[in-house]
This record gives sequence, structure tokens and C-alpha cells, in this order.
Amino acid sequence: MTNIRCSSCGFAEDFRFGIGMRHSSLERCLGEFSYWERQELEAMMEEKEVADYHFCFQLTQCQTCLHLRSRPYIEFLFTDGSRAHSELRCTECRSENVRLIPEEWLDTARCPFCREKGLEKENIGMWD
Ligand SMILES: [Zn+2]
Ligand SMILES: [Zn+2]
Repeated sequence: MTNIRCSSCGFAEDFRFGIGMRHSSLERCLGEFSYWERQELEAMMEEKEVADYHFCFQLTQCQTCLHLRSRPYIEFLFTDGSRAHSELRCTECRSENVRLIPEEWLDTARCPFCREKGLEKENIGMWD
């Protein structure tokens, strides 16, 4: 778990993201997605044959409402060399303008409450 906090307003929440989630099978990875997301992914997999895939939990932020969320993210590499990835639609406002926030870009993300840039992270996994 990673605790994300805002240095301006005191917003703080725990998120699960980054590498460290090792999934043994594609089946288990797909199980992390919601029903509708899984339908879309399965449609992609029916169209083309998956050669490889990369799955992890990613921190994402909606650029419309600034909703911050960690969510499952999968990228497929197909046997024909093309790639596709899971949709990132905001669960709050349904906007498709959602971007991934890599940890090193956290300081460029805005706080969902006060809208200031100044998010910080603290790894709390070592206290487990
Ligand atoms: Zn704030
Ligand atoms: Zn949104």
C-alpha cells in the first residue's frame, strides 16, 4: 500500500499500485476487472491472439473531475505485433480523459480536493 497525501489541504488516502502484484495467469488478471471492462477485454482477445501481456495496478487520475484511483491495467501484445490496453474510464464522471500517474510524476498530479499540485507519497508497506 502507498499512502498519498496532499501537502496543501491534508487529503490522505491509501492506494494499491505499482509492480509487486504478480499474477500467475491471464485468467486471474482479468478477474481484477469489473464485469464490463472484462467484456471489452475478452472481445479484444477474441479478435486477435495474445502473444504476451503486462498487468499491474496503476494509479490513475481523471483529468475532468480529478478523481484519483488505483485500478487494474492490462496491456496486450498480439501475435501480429499490435498492442491494445484496457480502457480507463472515470468511475465518477464517465470521462474517458483519464491518465496514468507513474509514481515519479506524482508531483504533477492535482489534489482531488483542493486542486493544488503537491501530492506526496509514503510507502507504508514496511509496517505490515
Ligand atoms: Zn489538497
Ligand atoms: Zn472523472
